[in-house]
Amino acid sequence: MTAAAISERTNELLLRFNLTTAAAELARRLEQAGQPEVLGLVLEVLEMEAEAREQRKIGRLRRASQLPPGKTFETLDRNVFQPALDRKLRELARGEFLEGAINLLAFGPPGVGKSHAATALGHALIEQGHAVLFRPAYQLVQELLAAKHDLMLPRLLRRLDAAELLILDDIGYVKQSAEEAEVLFTLIAQRYERRSVMITSNLVFSEWERIFKEPMATAAAIDRLVHHAIILEFNSASYRTRARPRVSDPPAEGTMVNKAARSKDDPGD
Ligand code: ADP
Ligand code: MG
Repeated sequence: MTAAAISERTNELLLRFNLTTAAAELARRLEQAGQPEVLGLVLEVLEMEAEAREQRKIGRLRRASQLPPGKTFETLDRNVFQPALDRKLRELARGEFLEGAINLLAFGPPGVGKSHAATALGHALIEQGHAVLFRPAYQLVQELLAAKHDLMLPRLLRRLDAAELLILDDIGYVKQSAEEAEVLFTLIAQRYERRSVMITSNLVFSEWERIFKEPMATAAAIDRLVHHAIILEFNSASYRTRARPRVSDPPAEGTMVNKAARSKDDPGD
């Protein structure tokens, strides 16, 4: 590193830590004292400070995110997904979609890895310092409803606004009341074009009237969600069934076949 680069980087870090006077004085003073080379050592320590701060921030973001632990890209088997979907997920993990408040809509039958992929994405974004919040959709709807009854809905919405990505897991899983549909719509409308939402769902759009009750509200919600959105189609076979040992696979030498794991259409022994 050249002396100029060291000086510039030191300045940058001191300003980031709000040490404005130190930023203005440090290099000049060392120069005057005839020890300009000491700045290199100072910079090393400042870099340690920056790294420690970053790690603390990521720890805070991770705790606040309520993301299920362990469901990361490391534990996600990429071979299961269509190559296009896999590529898309990797690209999204870079986080550029957050700038445009792009929404992510993950569709597919149960067990195909929608929630795991959404969670993995959340973890990857946090590693880059982005704020993410993961909520099972029905839970968040209950929280919104409770806040509304206490006249605290605006406050909760403001709090949710801190999340650059709000993951609503499994929307439409339970039948909702009109009031539940209304608070969910309020949330979607409030984030529209400002903050990204990721939704996972087993229901395709044509079934979304079950979520939003009336055709008008359904159309309005879908309209806002898809205006700037990326649709992720999960159409592989269920990972749950796939992970189970299949009876058609001969057991490896020396292993016991677990009878309980056999499917009912297995002719058995
Ligand atoms: P969905 O949300 O689509 O119903 P999940 O993401 O909950 O499915 O996946 C069901 C189970 O299978 C979870 O335990 C998940 O961790 C696991 N799983 C799904 N897809 C994969 C995958 N590609 N690699 C590893 N585990 C997976
Ligand atoms: Mg799920």
